[in-house]
Amino acid sequence: MTFRDGCRLFLLCALLTGFCLVLGRMVHPVETETTAAGMVIAEGNGIRVLSGALDGYFDVTYTRSQLLKGTLPVVSPLHPLPADFPSPNARGVRKVVGAYLPALEETALARDAIQALCDLQYDYALQGVRITRGAVSMAQQNEERRKVFENLLHTCSVEEAAEKSRQREPAGGESEHQLGLCFDLVWTEGAELGKGDMIACCDTGLWLKENMWQYGFIRRGAPEHRAHEENVCGNLHIRYVGVPHAAAMQAGNWCLEEYLNILRTYGCITVQVEGQRGNCIYWLPLTHEDGITARLPSPYGDVSFDNMGGAVFTCTAPGA
Ligand SMILES: [Zn+2]
Repeated sequence: MTFRDGCRLFLLCALLTGFCLVLGRMVHPVETETTAAGMVIAEGNGIRVLSGALDGYFDVTYTRSQLLKGTLPVVSPLHPLPADFPSPNARGVRKVVGAYLPALEETALARDAIQALCDLQYDYALQGVRITRGAVSMAQQNEERRKVFENLLHTCSVEEAAEKSRQREPAGGESEHQLGLCFDLVWTEGAELGKGDMIACCDTGLWLKENMWQYGFIRRGAPEHRAHEENVCGNLHIRYVGVPHAAAMQAGNWCLEEYLNILRTYGCITVQVEGQRGNCIYWLPLTHEDGITARLPSPYGDVSFDNMGGAVFTCTAPGA
């Protein structure tokens, strides 16, 4: 081969390599591009929620039993848990972390909720508050309903007692507490009770209202959400959903039902929190045997059923 042929061969290889790179970008978009993310749907607290998310190129399948382990189902008398919902793997908070968290002795929670509470406690030592109730089994919840019914029988007819107990206490399968991701807060000191919203009556409550989303917690039963929210608990009730979802709900001031509706409407959203990698969140209809199969930008993510006919997949936006 002459020197000239060598040069020609080198040039050809360089051209071919360039062509392949361009083709590669067309087939697999560069990971840092959030090409489909567009309109700002909500903004605040250093959080931006955008319509759209990355296109997918991994075919991903999740089974129904995987979806049932998620953090996002709506659970209420209108949307009871399915009969095959597994008991959550809840552990006694005091057994796991001792007195590090101000939990009552019998309070049990799923591991993710305990971990998130510990992260919160590390940053802001909770004062004048007790963590109560936590995970409740189907049988315990039925027992709660029975107690309310029996108390009402002292003053009401059987029919009235049945109706009122239905309104006041969820039966088994109808309470978020069965997820193992929820707990109630009781103020023990420093709270000015009886003056409006339960969470706004002390400094700890006000701090939680502004900051607990950073640890993945949302509040259920806030006065401002009652019009859109299904009744879940009469107490100051906190639920773990995971940081990206709690961040989006904080930015949009949406309750869980409104948030799931936004996801279903847009199909996918991107949640960006200042200083952190963004998250792509997709709402997907259930397909084969109530699982999901979809083309997604990552084979690794969190997944949850919404108990309303769909599922939510969440992954970190690669490189974004
Ligand atoms: Zn509760």
